[in-house]
Amino acid sequence: MHEFGIAYDIYATARKAALERKAREVRSVHVEFGEMAMVNPEQVAFLYGTLVEDDPLMKDSTLTWSVVAPLTRCSCGYEGSERFVCPRCGKLPELVRGREVTVTHMEIEVDDE
Ligand SMILES: [Zn+2]
Repeated sequence: MHEFGIAYDIYATARKAALERKAREVRSVHVEFGEMAMVNPEQVAFLYGTLVEDDPLMKDSTLTWSVVAPLTRCSCGYEGSERFVCPRCGKLPELVRGREVTVTHMEIEVDDE
């Protein structure tokens, strides 16, 4: 399943980052979904919940997300969010950004040194 792989990647990325920062607990993980990534964020959040269940470091974390509009560019110089027809010349613009799923920030608890 597409969503499962994505949820797992988010989990693995967040876990690695948390360990690098010596986190005691992860509170929340925020993810940006490109509008063209063709994923269902609710489903990813649900799967993420099942993945962190047995992980003491991550189990109380919540996944929050935002969906970001795509960025396209055309050979005529147009840059914007039109995906199929360039509003300036009518050609097919190239997708520059919009398929990514990125962990943008996290909230963690760290032990006092
Ligand atoms: Zn154009």
